[in-house]
Amino acid sequence: MLVKISSHLRKLAKKSSAVGKQFFPSPKEKEFSRATSLDPLLEEKYKKVKGLIHKYPKRVLIELTLNCASFCRFCTRRREVSDIKKGEISPKDIEKMIDYIKSKPTINEAIFSGGDPLTVPELLISTLRKFSRLSQIKIIRVHTRVPVSNPRLLTKKILAEFTKINRKKTFYLSIHIEHPDELTPQTLSAIKALKKTGAILLSQAVFLRGINDSYKVLADLFTKLSELGVRPYYIFHCDLVKGIEHFIAPIEKEIKIMTKLRKNLSGIAFPFHVIDAPNGSGKIPAPLNFWNFNTSNFTDFLEKKIKMY
Ligand code: SF4
Repeated sequence: MLVKISSHLRKLAKKSSAVGKQFFPSPKEKEFSRATSLDPLLEEKYKKVKGLIHKYPKRVLIELTLNCASFCRFCTRRREVSDIKKGEISPKDIEKMIDYIKSKPTINEAIFSGGDPLTVPELLISTLRKFSRLSQIKIIRVHTRVPVSNPRLLTKKILAEFTKINRKKTFYLSIHIEHPDELTPQTLSAIKALKKTGAILLSQAVFLRGINDSYKVLADLFTKLSELGVRPYYIFHCDLVKGIEHFIAPIEKEIKIMTKLRKNLSGIAFPFHVIDAPNGSGKIPAPLNFWNFNTSNFTDFLEKKIKMY
């Protein structure tokens, strides 16, 4: 994966090592000690037409681009993210996606992701308009890290479009945010502006060893987000992707932190902690220490026993 870091994040990384570690490459990316793969979630298997992943019955994920405002070193899609040419989506590709969705009437939700869909604003606007005309699509979600990685990309034009979409469909916007240091004045203004569009705001994060695998850091992050009106939605166990093992925290440590957070935070500040099953079969909720369990294996959505890594 190529290195790309916005000037906003370069400045921030000078003050925060937690930010720097996420975006500057490490020699550890070349160390492969575990059973990693390039695509542990088997997304390629579920690509039905170019740019459309259909893994769960009722929703599709749209990779609108493979570009981002900055490339996170721990990206699950690092096998393809930054290959901008390969990820280019044409109007014809959008039409094929729409035809596919129409052929599957159970689909009621579309998630715009990538890469970061806010790095291709014109394409995002035109596609949102097309999808909002599909009567079977009731929920539209946009997943982005732009409020953190380059808040200037949230232009008046895109915000106005979000306001319009919000009138037509139930509209969620999920912000990828890892550490309270990322809540700069610019990011706070971006969140305020997004709130004004009427979108339901969610956040998602990944447990990252040495960055946010700490009770104090996550308590601070989730409290601040809930105060801002952003509902912490998911925190993922880092996926077993080739080149990012050094970011993976021990699951026992994560569970201990989540248990303490559950005791001390309001329910609305507490996200789902999940492991994305390495055979692409779903987001498995991790248990809390209130119950007796062992962490050596879990059962996925297909009732298959998976050995914990
Ligand atoms: S913003 Fe998301 S898609 Fe882009 S590099 Fe980071 S994790 Fe990957």
